[in-house]
Amino acid sequence: MKNRFARLNRSLYIRVCLTTILAVAVSALLGFLVSNVYYHASLKPYNDAKLTGIAYEIQRTAELRPGDADIYLASAAALGYELYVTDGAGEERFYGRDFRQRDLDEAAARKVLDGGEYHGVAAFPNRPFITGFFDNRLSNTVGVPLTIGGKPAALFLRPDVILQFGELRSFFAMIGLLTVAFSIAIFLIATRYLVKPITRMTAATQQIADGRYGIELPTRRQDEIGQLAGHFMTMSRSLSRAEQSRREFVANVSHEIQSPLTSIQGFAQELAAGRLPDEERVRYAGIIGEESRRLSALGRQLLLLSSLDRMEDGLVRSPLNLRAEIRRAAEVLDWQLDEKGIALKLAVPDRLLVLGEATLLDQVWINLLSNAVKHIPEGRSISVAAEARDGWCEVRFADTGDGIPPEKLPLLFERFYRGDPARSGGGTGLGLAISRQIVQLHDGTISAESEPGQGSTFIVKLPRL
Ligand code: ADP
Repeated sequence: MKNRFARLNRSLYIRVCLTTILAVAVSALLGFLVSNVYYHASLKPYNDAKLTGIAYEIQRTAELRPGDADIYLASAAALGYELYVTDGAGEERFYGRDFRQRDLDEAAARKVLDGGEYHGVAAFPNRPFITGFFDNRLSNTVGVPLTIGGKPAALFLRPDVILQFGELRSFFAMIGLLTVAFSIAIFLIATRYLVKPITRMTAATQQIADGRYGIELPTRRQDEIGQLAGHFMTMSRSLSRAEQSRREFVANVSHEIQSPLTSIQGFAQELAAGRLPDEERVRYAGIIGEESRRLSALGRQLLLLSSLDRMEDGLVRSPLNLRAEIRRAAEVLDWQLDEKGIALKLAVPDRLLVLGEATLLDQVWINLLSNAVKHIPEGRSISVAAEARDGWCEVRFADTGDGIPPEKLPLLFERFYRGDPARSGGGTGLGLAISRQIVQLHDGTISAESEPGQGSTFIVKLPRL
């Protein structure tokens, strides 16, 4: 596995390197093309005019002393020019470094012999990869007329670039090459640093996939990679929490199933032994029945919880009148209220509407009412009051029981939390957790307040329609 990641990263590294080298090569090519275009468009005519000026200068000086013309032309060539002199009748002389190609056409020579000028540098054809400046051919010269000893001749001239710019050329070539070499080397090193955090994150992903969440990534960087590392750590922590609560949930479920089953088995064995007095037998059968009911309630609630977990957007909402809804829930508990002699006071105004799924919200009202009934002594009272406040409907279920200690309040809505298992009347500890999930699915909140000894109040807030 490690190898695979090494290979992946290596390929990313190689990809970045190749891209860089390609970028340098393409930039060099584009640079060359653009400067060539610049030479053709702007430098070429300028160069031609400059050379024509120099040619006239040489012509003037050579004509001043026709006897020394030959020596003068040779020394002009030694200063950095390539010269060609012809009289059009077979007499030709070359001074300085030789032309790579002697390709001057006769018409050009004739024109200059007749007193005209030749502008081969300015007329050098535009070709993308050939810079006329360096093309050492006879046609790439300027020509001016020259009279030596009364005889007309033509003088053609171009710079000897090797003599004039030889070292400069290698100097610039060196700058160019070193720039390219250094930038590639620096890129190779920099890419390692760029790829490194990605390598670390890839390894971290693998760690998470293997179920190890204790990941530490450097998050000091402010850039996108730093942010990615930060989000990655947050994700890993929340995955770790989710995994933790999943494990706790499974452990709780197993425990909740195991303990009633153990007692059912124990009592069933006793019953099977058949040595019990009638009274005991009835009690044991009652316990078995009670535990089975609890198991079946647990099964139903677990199913409901898992369907709520998956629901998110799946609510079938319709406008609900809170008064009618809460009344209906109270009717379900009528029998229990009567049995404990508990008075229920409803103060829910008529026109309070919420948008929700009635069967789910019913569970909330019934759970809160039955909790109140369960946790208060006989003969006390429960009040349910609702009002509209800032776009919310607030419903308060207040009982007159013994209340809940403040340190327990935050735990009430946890799955499987039971304050006092002995007094929870066979509850599963899932009722409030389910209620909270349903209320949250309706974009509402649920909370509890309590004054020990004064009773508890559960407050449900739902967006008002
Ligand atoms: P259960 O189904 O076991 O009643 P709940 O989630 O509904 O589980 O309630 C969790 C715990 O919260 C109960 O075991 C109880 O200790 C406490 N509780 C809930 N409602 C009240 C109340 N009205 N008064 C006092 N304690 C309560």
